[in-house]
Amino acid sequence: MKITLAQSLGMCFGVRDAIDLALMEPEPESVTILGQLVHNPRILRRLEEAGLRIAESPEVPVDTGRVIITAHGVSKTIRGRLEERGYQVQDATCPLVNRAHRALASLVAAGYFPVVIGQADHVEVRGLVGDLAECVVLERPDDVARLRAHTDVGRNGHARLGVVAQTTQPLDLVRERVEQIRAALPEAEIRFVDTVCRPTKERQQAARELARQVQVMVVIGGRNSNNTRQLARTCAREGATVYHVEGAADLQQEWFAGVEHVGITAGTSTPDEVIQEVCAEIERLG
Ligand code: SF4
Repeated sequence: MKITLAQSLGMCFGVRDAIDLALMEPEPESVTILGQLVHNPRILRRLEEAGLRIAESPEVPVDTGRVIITAHGVSKTIRGRLEERGYQVQDATCPLVNRAHRALASLVAAGYFPVVIGQADHVEVRGLVGDLAECVVLERPDDVARLRAHTDVGRNGHARLGVVAQTTQPLDLVRERVEQIRAALPEAEIRFVDTVCRPTKERQQAARELARQVQVMVVIGGRNSNNTRQLARTCAREGATVYHVEGAADLQQEWFAGVEHVGITAGTSTPDEVIQEVCAEIERLG
């Protein structure tokens, strides 16, 4: 059985830098990470073993003097609240998440009604929209219909919508959604800023190309990792049979019976050693 790794896969620089920052803390017991630093159970365990505490979310009060904002970022409101409470704040927000914040803020400042394509309950999206008086988050195609009710399109006959995306959304899905908005609100002026991050684009493209050549794609990453789930979705759209696993222990022999070519990809928070373990186990099972 042939096994091929996607040309681009696994941990991105934003996640690597956030982990390094946390693990470099000189007194880890006095530091709380505000939410899942990355969506990967193995890394979260490693951080806890190093002595760092992990809070459920940035909104929850904690009892250490120092806190770390995760790679997904927070709103200015939450950051201000942390400073008011007297915490020393270390910021591990990925620069590409900050870029999405700046893009949305510029659109709002220019008078556009803010629209975010992404998952409403994802911590990055909560951070993006947290300072806005009003905003629409588009998760599913049906959500586009809600836009008319929430904006002044229809009332004034014209509206300006400023659209950005969660950094880990597949660009093809985002572009589709923008076209749906244009079709649903032809009288509106739509300004779209592409805020999907480069590592996501590279992993999506590589996964798409590989999924066309293989029968089975194994996608490695946390079950709650948005970008890993999106990789699985992209591979399935290309016609491959897809298995989403968190690690080697999830693999099942029958998945590979009669299979000649298996492809492997991994989300941006999946450590290299997990990818290697999964590869070795697939080789053994195959
Ligand atoms: S997935 Fe993209 S935005 Fe998120 S941490 Fe990695 S590089 Fe940054």
